[in-house]
Amino acid sequence: MEKKTTLSIDSEADERGLSRRAFLGLSATAAVAAGVGLTACAPKGSAESGADGSKTDSGASQGPVAPSKIDATYDTDLLIIGGGGSGLACAVQASLNKTKFIVLEKNTMLGGNANFVEGMFAINSKAALEKGIEITTAKIVEDKLVRGQHRQNAAFWIDLCEKSAGNIEWCLEQGVLYNGVIDNYHGGLHPTFHWFKDGKSSVGYVKPMIKRVEDLGVEVHFETAAFQLIMKDGVIAGAYAKSKQGTVQYNAKAVVLATGGFGGNPELIAKQGWNTEHLFCVGSENAAGDAYKMATEIGAKDFMQESSQSILYMIPALPKIDFHKDALNPVNGYFGIAAGGPVLWVNENCERFTRENLTEDNLVLQCIPGRDNKANYTIFDQKILDTFFTTTADAKKMFDDALANDKTGTLVKANSIAELAKAFELDEKAFKATVDRYNELCKSGADVDLGKTAEKMIAIENGPYYIAKMGYSFFFETGGVATDKERRVLDNDKKPIPGLYAIGNDGNMNYRHVYTINMPGTAMGNQVNSGREAANHAADYL
Ligand SMILES: Cc1cc2nc3c(=O)[nH]c(=O)nc-3n(C[C@H](O)[C@H](O)[C@H](O)COP(=O)(O)OP(=O)(O)OC[C@H]3O[C@@H](n4cnc5c(N)ncnc54)[C@H](O)[C@@H]3O)c2cc1C
Repeated sequence: MEKKTTLSIDSEADERGLSRRAFLGLSATAAVAAGVGLTACAPKGSAESGADGSKTDSGASQGPVAPSKIDATYDTDLLIIGGGGSGLACAVQASLNKTKFIVLEKNTMLGGNANFVEGMFAINSKAALEKGIEITTAKIVEDKLVRGQHRQNAAFWIDLCEKSAGNIEWCLEQGVLYNGVIDNYHGGLHPTFHWFKDGKSSVGYVKPMIKRVEDLGVEVHFETAAFQLIMKDGVIAGAYAKSKQGTVQYNAKAVVLATGGFGGNPELIAKQGWNTEHLFCVGSENAAGDAYKMATEIGAKDFMQESSQSILYMIPALPKIDFHKDALNPVNGYFGIAAGGPVLWVNENCERFTRENLTEDNLVLQCIPGRDNKANYTIFDQKILDTFFTTTADAKKMFDDALANDKTGTLVKANSIAELAKAFELDEKAFKATVDRYNELCKSGADVDLGKTAEKMIAIENGPYYIAKMGYSFFFETGGVATDKERRVLDNDKKPIPGLYAIGNDGNMNYRHVYTINMPGTAMGNQVNSGREAANHAADYL
């Protein structure tokens, strides 16, 4: 199991001189080592039994037991937990609304996984209309809902679409930079992807938004990780956090959760049902599911099993994807060997369990059918490899080097089909029968079993042969906590928990089970939209 550290983001920030020191808040009233005056805000709970579990009017629990020792206390109106893509938008909007608030950021710098983003969704933006790109809300909504089996609430999508052009203009006003290209991001359904400057939101979005936050004098507490919400009489009353000061109590009338989901936490990814052997978390490990844990602990509706993820197959023996560089690499890129197409996929029972060209509609769909398998294998021969994947000298070198130096035991070359089966202790007879059936379909010109397009049906008969056991590249997860359209967190009775919001990847209700990357940039479009909405709603609530 491998996890990417946040070091690269930190060093990028240092290069830009955007260190945490630039933003350390000075104005809050820190009652260091305060033990006095905390009783009124301390959550009720049984010290013996852990989580209290008693229900409030909103159906939410009173929450777990308060920490026994508080080292510092701050008072504010709004607490924004997480300063990434959505937290930055929320902070800027809250500042423009003149709300009194503090941002907590676990990392040494702002930006989170938004540092990896390339572009953002919008329809009918000024720039799009100038290019003659016009798309109706109804078209987006129908194309989205049909891919989620109409389980999403269309009102969320209408909201995102209708506000998207305004959000681009708002971003521009804050200093966000786009490179002027609007396209369908490597073959998506519609040209909705507004690329950030240099194709990187670390340059086009995060950097200018950090400057905006700095100019607006936003109070950010860095290296401060919230770990528990405070409830008082069924209403949110703040959060506890760990920082260099020790355990800190933040008293707040409203809290926005913006911690980035749980895409960096292998334990929660496993809980969602994914096999984490050879898991590669592409994003930051700071997306650890802290909001999911804090919110469900006080009775928020657990949306994890409904929520979606951006996930791709990968072959552990090959170099991990660097998506800025390798997106279109024919070996380990988005459409490389693991993505399927002209190969055969089988599970641990040697069954062909889905058609292998699912990526043609939605790249991310590829992993969904195999999630409940014990193992997923891809099989191909030398001709398929040469024709579709090792099509350049660099690609061939990447593959050959990986095969020669494989320490993961996940990529095997053999002279016979039987040897492929043996390599992974698969049932030889069943394996051969599946390959024979697949070859028969290929030769007949029609995949009457699963309907894969004829040009991707290529018989596996030109040795040497290859088999790879696939793992996952997990990019991010969207929406572990249920919210309404105003981004208020819902309890198990689907009633809002007063004062609690979830934005960005923490509370994204736009998808079901699979992230539709083929509607390009909607995650980031939602981060800006949800951040602004929560700030505006909280301003009315306070
Ligand atoms: C590799 C990669 C590429 C992507 N590309 C795109 C793209 O091109 N387009 C797109 O639409 N989306 C893309 N995404 C999705 C992307 O994750 C989101 O759009 C966006 O970054 C999410 O914003 P967020 O605010 O929810 O989370 P983040 O931006 O990750 O911010 C969360 C912040 O919360 C902080 N935090 C976490 N826990 C705590 C805590 N307990 N206390 C305080 N702070 C905490 C984190 O340190 C982080 O700074 C990509 C994601 C990845 C990983």
